[in-house]
Amino acid sequence: MPAKEYYEIYDSHAHYDDSAFDSDRARLLEETLPINGVRCVINMGTRIRSCASSLGLAGCNPYFFAGVGIHPSEIDEDLPENWLDCLRAWLAEKEAVCVGEIGLDYHWKDNAPRERQMEVFAAQLALANELGYPVCVHDREAHADVLALLREYKPQGVVHCFSGNLEMAREILSLGMYIGIGGAVTFKNARKLLDVAREIPLDRLLLETDAPYMTPEPYRGQRNDSTNIPLAAEKIALLQGISTREVIEASNANIRRLFRLDGLLHAPSDLDPVIY
Ligand SMILES: [Zn+2]
Repeated sequence: MPAKEYYEIYDSHAHYDDSAFDSDRARLLEETLPINGVRCVINMGTRIRSCASSLGLAGCNPYFFAGVGIHPSEIDEDLPENWLDCLRAWLAEKEAVCVGEIGLDYHWKDNAPRERQMEVFAAQLALANELGYPVCVHDREAHADVLALLREYKPQGVVHCFSGNLEMAREILSLGMYIGIGGAVTFKNARKLLDVAREIPLDRLLLETDAPYMTPEPYRGQRNDSTNIPLAAEKIALLQGISTREVIEASNANIRRLFRLDGLLHAPSDLDPVIY
């Protein structure tokens, strides 16, 4: 069997604070991921508690960075009145690199009403612009309203786990934003996403896992983690007729640029796991 190709892996979107990682989080983050080439993870917050967890993970793992934001599915009675002040304070931490994960989700019937979701999303877009941070946008079955707010606020950032059509992708690109693509590009029912992945300029692509969710084929159904990034890259490379390495290296450069990681990333030797 040929030796497994070695890549330096950057994951622009993951949730390692999720309870799916409770049983083996320390071993995974301190050993398995670094040993397999994972050099950078942006861990996205979704609610007040997970923003604190994201910052905590970034504080003790030198290759981790935090997004802080309120996800549209987490807008409920637990959201404290001073939530925006919490985000503002956390964004001052050196490990915080973006406002995310924020956006609109019209899929789940028990999510907050659309008007409330738009209000919370807009407030976070305004905060990101005010403080000069990029955003990480979640858009599920809410394309028109997401686009309307992105047109209005013109943030820097990425529409993650992109699920729109080619026309929407072109508009996101014309707004100067990036497009996040992960495991879904390997799914057998991927159709619109294949058109987007074929056409996306390499300098606007961010690879992501959304771990523990969105596990690529052939592991769909299992828990996802950042070591699966090359599977999505391989599919995009095939569609564009280039090498997997080109796709991964372009995405890594884009992640460094968008989240302004130069100077924050540690040299690989600093990351060698310490085995006691
Ligand atoms: Zn996510």
